[in-house]
Formats: sequence, C-alpha cells, structure tokens
Amino acid sequence: MSFVFPPAEPVSVPVQGQSSRFPVHRIYCVGRNYAEHAKEMGFTGREPPFFFLKPADALVLALPGQTATMPYPSLTHDLHHEIELVVAIGTGGRNIAAADAHKHIFGYAVGLDMTRRDLQGEMKKQGRPWCIGKGFDHSAPIGPITPAAEVPSIAEATIHLDVNGQQRQHSNVSKLIWNIAETIEHLSAAWELQPGDLIYTGTPEGVAAVVAGDTLDGSVEGLQGIRVTIA
Ligand code: MN
Repeated sequence: MSFVFPPAEPVSVPVQGQSSRFPVHRIYCVGRNYAEHAKEMGFTGREPPFFFLKPADALVLALPGQTATMPYPSLTHDLHHEIELVVAIGTGGRNIAAADAHKHIFGYAVGLDMTRRDLQGEMKKQGRPWCIGKGFDHSAPIGPITPAAEVPSIAEATIHLDVNGQQRQHSNVSKLIWNIAETIEHLSAAWELQPGDLIYTGTPEGVAAVVAGDTLDGSVEGLQGIRVTIA
C-alpha cells in the first residue's frame, strides 16, 4: 500500500512487565463520575453517565522514574488537573453487560484528563461541544498499563494527585458513581468498544489550576504513578 504522505506512527502505551506495547484505538472519558467532584462543578444527584473523547495522539507518556513534559496549552488561562483511573480495553464488544465487563479489560493505568476549564466553561454556557476544552494536544498524560490480574483490588484503590508536593486530590476508586463495570456497560451501548480503547473513568474532587513550572505527581494504589511537569 502506498500513501500520499507517510501515515502517523501508531500510538501505544508500555505495559508493565512486558516488552509488547498496548496499541491505542480511542480515548473515551467519563464526565462527573465522583459525587464530590460533581458538586464542586455545580451538580448533584445521580445522572446517567455521559462521555466525551480525546484524540489518541493527545496522550503524553509518563514513564517510570522519569518526568514527562506537557506544554502549557494555547488559548487558556485556566488549565486544570483531573487525576483519573484509566481502564484499558483488551477485548472489544457492544452491549456488554456489567457482569461480563471484566472479560474485556486488559489492564489499568494512571491518567490525567487535563482541561482548559475556561474554554470548557464557555462552551458549556453556549451549549457547544467540549472538544476545545478537553480534546486538545497533549491533554492526556498516562502511565504504563498494568495487567488487570496484577491489581485485583483496583475497585477499592486510593487515587491521589499532588502538585509541587502539596496534596490536591485524594479519594478512592470505590467512590465512583458509575463503577468500572457499569461504565463499560453504558459506554458499549453507545459505541462498539475495540481492543485498544482507553477509558478515563472520571476525577474526584479537588480539581484546580496549574501553571508553567508546576510538577504533578499522580497515583492510583497498585499502579505505576506518573510525574508530569508543565512547561
Ligand atoms: Mn475528567
């Protein structure tokens, strides 16, 4: 096959303990999936889960023992951090029942759903898509994927984020409004999941702004943590 210009390299994420990498298909994100974060964004009550996407090439790999760099994005004056558990899909499917969801999970990673909050807020106000606030270049830092079998207690894992050594977000995956299995059930009713899909499952409370020079340390118990600096 020939191309009119060279196609982009496939996007992939390293897998803990394996030399083979996880090839990325799509990045799905869940909105407002922890009650205390929904409250801080001005919402209460359990609503059906809702989703948005980021382009696969928005990933920024944060490798163990290294500090990844995320450039401060254009157009914003309010870049927010959202620490999230990321679910990596290994087996696709549609209309997956929550009870079967675990069969489709390859593993988990720590991710940051970086957000141009001012632009997202303006789009919300105008009833326009969130893309410019959420799906921008370098908006999805991620650490290596740990195979699911190695983190059997992910559903009760602590999740936290420090900025410059100060705690900003601290919660537990058990506080997800829609848990991992329920999220897969809802998501796979709307899209046919494919091997290589990533799901950013939502952020707990404590979201706030970062500026150039800040260093973010994110972790989920049982997974490889990530360190990202804003340039
Ligand atoms: Mn988020």
